[in-house]
Amino acid sequence: MAGQIMDFHGIVMYQKEYRERDMLVKFFTQEAGKRMFFIRGAKKRGFKMTADLLPFTFGEYVGDIRDGGLSYINAAKDTTNLTHISEDIIKNAYATYMMSLLDLAIPDNQLLGGWYSRLFHGLSLINDGFDEAIITNIFEVQMMSLFGVQPNLRGCVICGRTDLPFDYSESYGGLLCQQHWHLDPNRLHLDQRTIYYLRQFSAVDLTKLKTVTVHDETKKNLRRALDMIYSDTIGVYPRSKRFLDQMLTWNGSRPTSNK
Ligand SMILES: [Zn+2]
Repeated sequence: MAGQIMDFHGIVMYQKEYRERDMLVKFFTQEAGKRMFFIRGAKKRGFKMTADLLPFTFGEYVGDIRDGGLSYINAAKDTTNLTHISEDIIKNAYATYMMSLLDLAIPDNQLLGGWYSRLFHGLSLINDGFDEAIITNIFEVQMMSLFGVQPNLRGCVICGRTDLPFDYSESYGGLLCQQHWHLDPNRLHLDQRTIYYLRQFSAVDLTKLKTVTVHDETKKNLRRALDMIYSDTIGVYPRSKRFLDQMLTWNGSRPTSNK
């Protein structure tokens, strides 16, 4: 199987034990999409790359990228761990969910396009103290298109108006203005503030985000709206999301500090 030795930029998604002394580490790479790496001797004492391969680490690596099967890492050149995510169970849960959504949305070995840098910026913002729930919401809204669902959040799907109150209709795949609410008795009955943020989130450039402040009540509504859309329209519920949901039930939503 031909491999290609190359420098690549990567973000560590997760690692798992493999045999007695080895490890598998899954990466998002900018140059070669998602890849699984076989790390020989990763659990032996004196192994040099332990810190470079921890989840939520990003940086430059040199690897032998193989198109079929596992790839190999030869060296880590310059890596940084997003320590605030690693050390905070809530940030960690949100970040893990974001990564697993992207993992499900794009097949392995396929280039990630703009998603590599969106993921990188999203994780960096969470690490820097931005509201992890909101960063995750932005990700969820923008990622729908990767799952083949591109809801119209610009104007009413029927008449295009943008000046009346909106609601979200799953059956029409987007917004309905007040005049057309009667068309869908099962519309989500969202409040205007929640609608406002859904529309903002669909358009915001994560790589340029500077501030975001959303009230707790609206955050709950956004969570509820996206849960409905994801479960009814997209049908994706990764294990990491189940964990996140459980954690939010135990903790309630914690007070947030926004920058
Ligand atoms: Zn309308």
